[in-house]
Amino acid sequence: MDRLLHNGRLADGNLVDIEITDGLINAVRDASAAPADTVVDDLRGWLVLPALAEPHAHLDKALTAELVPNPRGDLDSGYEAWTTAMQAGKFTHQGMVARAIQAIELLLVHGVTAIRSHVNVGGDFGIGNVLAMQEARAHFAGLVDIQLVALTLTPTTGTAGSANRAALAEAIEAGADLVGGSPNFDPDPAGFIRNALDAATDAGIGVDLHIDETLDPSSLDVRELARQVIERCFEHGVAASHCVSLGMQTPQTQSEVASEIAEAGITVFPLPQTNLYLQGRDHPSGTPRGLTALRALRDAGVAVAAGADNVQDIYNEVGRSDPLETAALLVMAGHQFPDDAYRMVSNDAREGIGLPRIDIAAGAPADLLVIDAASRREAIADAPMSRRVYHRGKLVASADQRTQVLRPD
Ligand SMILES: [Zn+2]
Repeated sequence: MDRLLHNGRLADGNLVDIEITDGLINAVRDASAAPADTVVDDLRGWLVLPALAEPHAHLDKALTAELVPNPRGDLDSGYEAWTTAMQAGKFTHQGMVARAIQAIELLLVHGVTAIRSHVNVGGDFGIGNVLAMQEARAHFAGLVDIQLVALTLTPTTGTAGSANRAALAEAIEAGADLVGGSPNFDPDPAGFIRNALDAATDAGIGVDLHIDETLDPSSLDVRELARQVIERCFEHGVAASHCVSLGMQTPQTQSEVASEIAEAGITVFPLPQTNLYLQGRDHPSGTPRGLTALRALRDAGVAVAAGADNVQDIYNEVGRSDPLETAALLVMAGHQFPDDAYRMVSNDAREGIGLPRIDIAAGAPADLLVIDAASRREAIADAPMSRRVYHRGKLVASADQRTQVLRPD
């Protein structure tokens, strides 16, 4: 045994000791006196949960809210502001690396031990952001697992798309872990999806696309993605992030499309923070929430997990890099039960990015969040900053919240 986590509380209320060996949970047993010759962490009766995961971040944009304001607060305005800022030379390599390091640290101290980040590729800047994110990632070797998705700018189709296609190939060559992009910004969304799947097939890697990030119900690119994935028997992981417009369909269409997504084995990532921030600004009455059709997807058996997407940048001015904030929004705006919401930002998110689930039981990876809360619901509600974070059995982050009521004379 390498380490003993003493006196942790499971979700069922039982107090336990957790033995850790070689990064795995070796045994879970009723709490008792610890042997003298073991490294012991006293968990003080705090709740022990599967670690959090962030399946959809943008580390190359995070924490730029002051640097690049978004004047109208919508997607188009944000895109224009970002492009203008890049062309004006507002971003340096070192600045981008430093902000990404800060953003990763924030996620880590909140309990995240696995991150998937989309990273802009193409346009005037080639793979510069990918190289910056790889540099930031290197600072966290052994602390948090980070995947980088090549978010290929549009177009990638036709003659006009040749430079972006070349940039994607270069990003894959440089070690990008997945192929990404936003088909609905391309003049030929089906062609964009085909290019993405072709590139991923050649490289033997997965795909994670920003799909249907619009309230316009006539946009249903996810259907085309499912069709192509099924038709070519695509072998690697496929995720559809956003799927906002699916939430605007009739229940019958939602059910049909959800069945197609399930058949294709696509994981869907709703992203409540950014969906709520960006969507619906031109719907002053009955403003839609911009969340996908969670219930229809679940009923069809689709794997659904959730992420935060943007954090303090052009697409979301706020956000605190804590998946418990995402979980709270899933409860309040997505009408999920708290226990389901927690699962969507922990084990479901891990599985959605290709990592094993964590049971608090022998044999599971020892990636754990220990938090000063009595239940998952209370953890989501209070989001206390008294936490311990374990990655592969090692303590990699800790935070202790202290509050005090003062009664001056
Ligand atoms: Zn995104």
